[in-house]
Amino acid sequence: MSWLTEFVRPKIRNFLGRQEPPDNLWHQCPNCQQMIFHRELEAAKKVCPHCGHHMRATAADRLAWTFDNGAYTRIDLPKAVPDPLRFRDQKRYVDRLKDARDATRQEDAVLVAHGMLGGARAVVAAMSFEFMGGSMGSAVGEALVAAARLAVLQAAPLIIYTASGGARMQEGAISLMQMPRSVIATQMVREAGLPFIVVLTDPTTGGVTASFAMLGDIQIAEPNALIGFAGARVIEQTVREKLPVGFQRAEYLYEHGIIDMVVKRAELTATLARLIALMTANKRQAAA
Ligand SMILES: [Zn+2]
Repeated sequence: MSWLTEFVRPKIRNFLGRQEPPDNLWHQCPNCQQMIFHRELEAAKKVCPHCGHHMRATAADRLAWTFDNGAYTRIDLPKAVPDPLRFRDQKRYVDRLKDARDATRQEDAVLVAHGMLGGARAVVAAMSFEFMGGSMGSAVGEALVAAARLAVLQAAPLIIYTASGGARMQEGAISLMQMPRSVIATQMVREAGLPFIVVLTDPTTGGVTASFAMLGDIQIAEPNALIGFAGARVIEQTVREKLPVGFQRAEYLYEHGIIDMVVKRAELTATLARLIALMTANKRQAAA
């Protein structure tokens, strides 16, 4: 043992704080309360192996799961004006943004990437609920426009994974303006004759549901995902009626014709690849 290992290293270790054993090796399923080993959970794409409950996933998870061999290229997104209203509630908006950026290592609530999906080019935009509830401010609007432009440029389908509580209240009317803006973005993809597929994940609500999230050529949802505009309690108080069981859940929306498919996460990537192949084959036939 040298002076370095015996004396300097322990000092550094003390200075940095004691290394505690990691306590996140096991996860408890919020649905069935069973404990799941973290590697098992990752291998199952964050779906409980006991009850099939689909846990929330990050935007980075979505990208890794969607592209062939988990290989993709993320694009730099345009910078939005930070804190246009100089908003403050209990905390300044700029501080909230900084906290969210530190916690997620993301600039804002969307990641955009391109790569191969089922052997064909695709552009994917994934929202992350863990970034300020996936709320849609001007940065999210910018990201969706960038994703749509990239899809048109590459003549590739656009897939958007939604996860959002709605508009970002700290940006007031500017956040509401992202609703028509995101609709125009998806319209660009449609006008170019390219497939636009929306995957609704838990939860997708508010201004996101009321704009681009319901405009896909094909609307897919993950099992039991909460999808709605206003909250169930608000609706109940407004219509003064008890709402049916499963209201605003993916399966209920599927049974009532609001969405096209409910697809388990394990089958999602293969389903997307198959749909894209079908949609582009039809287009090739029509052109011939
Ligand atoms: Zn479970």
